[in-house]
Amino acid sequence: MSLIKCPNCENEIDSFASKCPHCGFERKSGKVTIIGYTEKFALNPSVSVFKNGVEIGEVEPKGKMEIDVEKVCELQFKCGLRSTNCFVTPNDWVLLSFNRTTGELNATITDEYHCQNSISQAEKSDKKRIGCAIIIIIILLYLAYSYLS
Ligand SMILES: [Zn+2]
Repeated sequence: MSLIKCPNCENEIDSFASKCPHCGFERKSGKVTIIGYTEKFALNPSVSVFKNGVEIGEVEPKGKMEIDVEKVCELQFKCGLRSTNCFVTPNDWVLLSFNRTTGELNATITDEYHCQNSISQAEKSDKKRIGCAIIIIIILLYLAYSYLS
């Protein structure tokens, strides 16, 4: 048995309870959105997703996968030898990431706002990288030109 926070009163309740014993909040089935990691990697491997032990598909980098969950379920993520798991409830958003220091695969349970935020931050840093590359190419072309003439 594992404990989760009641989305209504924030008391700890059994993850499989359909009703909160503290406030009576009923948990309904709904959607969980999984976002593939937003960081850049040399190899961009996709991550296999398992729901309650059954493989249900793969999430591409920066990809989005929506799944139906009943009250609470366990999700497991596998990428090569790395794996992680978490318990989700309807309306959760799960953001996948790699820890650059330890090489671990992480699944962070968050909401739509934080997911969109981290996607737009990743896009901004991609644009910066492209900008830097263009400037370096221009400098190299200029140096080559002045060396040849
Ligand atoms: Zn409650």
